Formats: sequence, structure tokens, C-alpha cells
Amino acid sequence: MAKQPQPCDLLVTGDLILTLDAADRVLHGGAIAVADRTIVDIGTADELGRRWTTAKTIDGKGRIVMPGLVNVHNHTPLMITRGMIEDIGFAPMYTPGIPQGHWLREEDAYALSSLGMYELLRAGCTTVVDFYRYPGACARAAAELGVRAVIAGRVHDAEPAALATGRYDHSRAIGEASLKENAELIARWNGHDGGRIRCDWAPHAPDTCSDDLLREVKKLADAHGGNVHTHLSQLPLEVEAVRARTGLTPPQLMDKLGLLDDRLIAAHCIHLERSDIELCGKSRMTVAHAPIGNAKGGRIAPIMELREAGARIALCTDTFSGDLIEAMRWAIAMQRINRQGNVLDARTVLDWGTREGAAALGMDDKIGSLDVGKRADIVLLDNRSPSLAPLIDGYGVLVHSASGHDVDTVIVDGRVVLSDGRLTMADGDAIVARAQAVASALWQRAGRQPIG
Ligand SMILES: [Zn+2]
Repeated sequence: MAKQPQPCDLLVTGDLILTLDAADRVLHGGAIAVADRTIVDIGTADELGRRWTTAKTIDGKGRIVMPGLVNVHNHTPLMITRGMIEDIGFAPMYTPGIPQGHWLREEDAYALSSLGMYELLRAGCTTVVDFYRYPGACARAAAELGVRAVIAGRVHDAEPAALATGRYDHSRAIGEASLKENAELIARWNGHDGGRIRCDWAPHAPDTCSDDLLREVKKLADAHGGNVHTHLSQLPLEVEAVRARTGLTPPQLMDKLGLLDDRLIAAHCIHLERSDIELCGKSRMTVAHAPIGNAKGGRIAPIMELREAGARIALCTDTFSGDLIEAMRWAIAMQRINRQGNVLDARTVLDWGTREGAAALGMDDKIGSLDVGKRADIVLLDNRSPSLAPLIDGYGVLVHSASGHDVDTVIVDGRVVLSDGRLTMADGDAIVARAQAVASALWQRAGRQPIG
């Protein structure tokens, strides 16, 4: 006798399901059953229709279903500089004459972070690492919009106004205030909503943190667990400052202080000596590769060399856009230019944007692929989009041609947080309007008259 169907919370169907599981299963006319935030079954829609009953079904007719994307390095309040910074500098902290992080009030950071989280979700990023000033505002935005997030404060002790003019002025008071901000963040937000929000430690960079501050972060992060997030060898200025202060390269300094290990997720890693590449590789650290940001600054990180040396590569948009599919494409183009050949393909960078990001965060048992037992972080793309045709192997057209705008439904932790491109837990139009008002006021303060 046939087994009685069991109840589940949600059934998601799809014309095509790219599981990205260990066997790289692709299901035509597939379905995913979700119960208690977790994927409990994957198979054909016919099989699952016999095995499960549910009050809620997402009809994936005309849809491609895939795991949520994992974006391992962002600073959502920095949306304030988007569209402007690209032509005049690379980060407010190092660029005078533009709105600075220390000008933001907490409510400003919240308005900008909400915009950033909205854009990331809209483009299929279900897990987002975000760290900046007012990290509580970032956590609040992530919690409200329904995205899975790893949040940290921006720990540093370099005085920002001095730094914008190229001077390093390390202040104990600034360092202690940023440590306190992160401790308060952890106390308030770590583990929120069944672990959907996690908090980590994030020293800004080896030049903007003194050795003493980095030692303190190491101690706190060891006691806390999770990852340590930072920027590493991002610019010549940083490399020179670290060498002048310590006689070491940035990776050598991080290694000496015990921070260069498999828990470290370091963005950029551009200005490296050959011995730095070996050191980073041996440590099994993760490079948060930001191809769009690198390219806009006229730089290419030696990603293939770092990978060959043993480093893990994961992807991020670093606030330049929320579109990780676009970042995948840029990653391929840049490494082909760098190595003068076809050294990277769509399937590999798709892994960087999903499974590798999940593994870097120590979450590969929970996210990164569509597997029974993992959290239900699922993205549906509109297969009727001209950008997704023709569909031959699936991966090629997705990475080389699609964009975040082809995403129409996003599920995080079994909850539908984006439907038909619209947020379900917040008012997207209001978020955009609020962020525009904040940005207009801050750019006016910087002496620019916004047109918006
Ligand atoms: Zn960054």
C-alpha cells in the first residue's frame, strides 16, 4: 500500500532545478519540499506530489531554481558613495571631499543599509556578510528584510579625518569605541531569528588597525568563534604604511599576529609579493574576491595564483552593486585577461558564489546547495527572460548572460522574502525614497547638489 503523504510547510516546483549538490544534479520538472525552515525532500514534482501535502506552493513554471547566492563582503551603508566614488576614489575612508562614514547617524546607516540589503536580496543574494559603522543598523535592516546575514562592526583605531589626508594617527579611544560597538552588536544580535543573523569580528585593515588592536581582536574572535573579516593588501598606501610601521607585508603581519588562518575572510588581496601568495595559500584563508571593485580601480588580484597556492576563493560585490552574477562574469573576464587565456569557467565561479562562500563562513552544512537537511535558501529566476535563452547546459547562460534582475522569487530559511521582484516583509519603494533623502543631504554637506 502506498505511504500516506506527509504535511510540509512549502513546496517549490521548477521547470529546471540546478541543485549544485555534490553530484551536480539537475532536475527537469522538479520540486523541493520545505518543513521547519529546512529542505526535507528533492525530486520530481510528480514524486513529491505523492509524498507531501502542503497549504503553500510556489509554482515554478517558467522558472529556474537554484541555491541562494552567498556574498561574502559588503558595507551596505556605503551605498552613500555609489555612482560617485568610482570616478574619484575607491573608499571614503581614504578619499577626501565626499561623505565620510563618521558623518552618518545611526538612522542614516539604517536607511542606506536597508537599500543595500534590498538590492542584494533582489539579485538573489540570500546570505550577506556586512560590516561597517553602526552595525546594529545593518543587523536591523537584514532582520527586517529577511536576508541571512553575518554582521560585524568596523574595528579600527586610525583617526578617519587624518587618514583621508594620507596620515596615520592611531588612537586608543577610537579603537576601544569600535571594540565596544562590536561587543554590543554581538550581545544584541548574534543568533537572532534561529541563527539567521550571526555576528563576527571585522578589523578594517592592517594599516587602519594598530598591532595592539589586531591582537585584541584575535583574542576576542578566538573566544567568540565565527570568522574574522578584513581588507588585505588592497592598496599600495596600505602596504607601504604596514611596512613602515612593522617592516612586514600585510599578510606577514596578519600571520605574525595569528590572524592568517582558515577563519580569515580577506577582501581584495591585490598587492601581493610571490611569498605573500604562498603564505596566504598555506594558511587556507579565504579571499573575498571583488572583481568589479578591483577592475574599477584599475587593478587585478592574482586570484588564480592564490587558488593554486591553496587559498579558498569566494565572491563579493563590496557594495559596488548587489549583483553577484555580474561579479561572476567579471571574475572570469579579469582572470582571462590576467593570465592571457581561458583559465576560469562558469561552473567554477558559480561555486565561488555559492558553495565556497558557504564553506568560508563555516555554513556548508546549512547553505550553498540544494540538499536535503540544508536550510531552504532558494532562488527562482524567470526562465522566460531573453537573457536566459537558449538554455543548453544551464550554467553557461546563467553566468555569462543572466543578471540579478532575472531573479523573481527568493526564499530564505523557508520564508518567501521576495515575490515577483517585490519584498514581502518591507516596502521597497519607501526604502529607496528614504535612502535617496539621506544621500541627498550628505552629498549636499560635501558640496554637491544632487539631481535626485
Ligand atoms: Zn570592503
